[in-house]
Amino acid sequence: MSNYKVNPPPKDIITLYRTRLSREKGYIKKDWGARTRIALVYPNHYNMGMTNLGFQSLYQLFNQRTDVVAERIFLPDDQEMRIYLLSGKPLLSLESQSPLSNFDLVAFSISFENDYLNILKILEMGRLPLFAFQRSEDDPFVMAGGVTTFLNPEPLSPFFDFFLLGEAESNINIFLDLFISLKKDSSPKTKLIKTMSGSLDSLYAPSLFQSGYSRDGCLNSFEPIENNLPKKINVPRKALTGQVRTSIIRTPDTLFGEKLLIELGRGCGRSCRFCAAGYIYRPPRIYSKSRTLEALNKAMASHHEVGLMASAISDIPDLEELTSMILEKGHTFSLSSLRADKLTPGLLDHIRKAGQKTVTIAPEAGSERLRRVINKHLTEKQIMDAVSMIAHTSNFSIKLYFLIGLPSETKEDLIQMADLVKGIRERMIKMSASRGTIGQIKLSINCFVPKPFTPFQWHPMEDISSLKEKQKMLKKALAGIGGLKITFDAPKWAYIQALLSLGDRRVASILLMAHEAGGNWKKAFRLSDLKPDFFVYRKKSPDEILPWDFIDNRIDKRHLLHEYRQAMKATQSEVCNVGQCYRCGVCTKENT
Ligand code: SF4
Repeated sequence: MSNYKVNPPPKDIITLYRTRLSREKGYIKKDWGARTRIALVYPNHYNMGMTNLGFQSLYQLFNQRTDVVAERIFLPDDQEMRIYLLSGKPLLSLESQSPLSNFDLVAFSISFENDYLNILKILEMGRLPLFAFQRSEDDPFVMAGGVTTFLNPEPLSPFFDFFLLGEAESNINIFLDLFISLKKDSSPKTKLIKTMSGSLDSLYAPSLFQSGYSRDGCLNSFEPIENNLPKKINVPRKALTGQVRTSIIRTPDTLFGEKLLIELGRGCGRSCRFCAAGYIYRPPRIYSKSRTLEALNKAMASHHEVGLMASAISDIPDLEELTSMILEKGHTFSLSSLRADKLTPGLLDHIRKAGQKTVTIAPEAGSERLRRVINKHLTEKQIMDAVSMIAHTSNFSIKLYFLIGLPSETKEDLIQMADLVKGIRERMIKMSASRGTIGQIKLSINCFVPKPFTPFQWHPMEDISSLKEKQKMLKKALAGIGGLKITFDAPKWAYIQALLSLGDRRVASILLMAHEAGGNWKKAFRLSDLKPDFFVYRKKSPDEILPWDFIDNRIDKRHLLHEYRQAMKATQSEVCNVGQCYRCGVCTKENT
């Protein structure tokens, strides 16, 4: 849904984009001149892209260079789409309203597999051929980065010239130096791509790799086409020693409104076995306190509200002190999901004073056993203590995240989930009794999707029909609880997400069919020779080549397998202990 608020809406796209720009503060407009022109694309609507700190940070990184001009492109929302269809115009950038095809480089920033279909829509609206091999020397290069590309870019591989893996701050300038200098030489595209692949170990060009399959359909080879090309693609990380990452563009037209986003840390050391971000952003890192204070003070000089961001926000040391300082200076803040075992009365009081109405915690599973399977390191007592503290502080609503379909989950685990929610409600009532007002429980129950580079990468996703049964069962079990709002995600979307997370390059053909069928996945599955269940429901063998094995994330596959086996025995393992622990392969004595 668009948040575009000008009424009546402009009738042409150029006026609409100029009006949108006029409501923004902080965007960058440069003359093109001889600069390298980059279309930075977020494959979803404007209001989604602009809340993504990674996307905003890339915009800054590109535009910091004097030899580059980067402009944003988004998937048009329904209102824009109608205007595009009526006008017949190709997809335009926001800053100068230039067609996508006029840029030198189209750079997608991809965070979610469910946006993959939008990528094809954007290429089509930009009048670019969808397949890399169909594009001419005059067409821009099409590349991508972002978290799903360093988990498994293979289902997207034929549509892209190359992917730049890893955290952008660590390789974007090296990449741009190389790209700009090679482009000046007017090298043919294939030569330029090969030279970049040979020179930059985090650049993956799918056309330079070939795959082979055995009769049972499994991958049996995945090799570069020439011996001198690297066999593995590196995923670089960045020590958070530089400037703190913040958003630069403010607009009232997003969910976050005028709030400035500040990154306090990256990666999470809790080692939850289902969480891809927890693995591929290892090791957990934080900015120094002085850097954080510097960024906060700068942010507060121009913004009333700051959004504090980190994968594990409650693991940030001094969080209580930081939030106190923000309030003392007459400003306000927001925080994302918190660890139940890290809440303190002081922090909750700050959250109340900041005007936040909901506190989010994520038990993920209802039973102690299943929380051990996923390595959550969270007991029922810790959850209930947190609920007491939350309800004692204020009439906060409590948002709870749970997953269903987790490996080894039984009916008993679901009964215990319902019991836990009932227990939480009762505790909220008891702790709020003297106050007389009580918040809601907002229960968000999502389907588990196995992800690459996690211990569950070998595990099949649970069958859609079984997930639907579980949803029905939970609805029934939770029916009598007052003040409870439940949302379930749709198992069919989880299935598609699993296909796009776990598939190899052959899955691109299904993606194309779904695009040609106007987003009708059912039709695409019917027409395809490839069986999507093969990727989603099949338990993978520890010996088989996985489509993402060519990516060197520094995480030892043997460690993941060990963790998987521990999970199936419901045994917890340690959390990260940077500087003392070297077990997953990411930290070494040299780099910590
Ligand atoms: S080596 Fe240990 S501390 Fe480092 S990322 Fe891996 S599990 Fe965490």
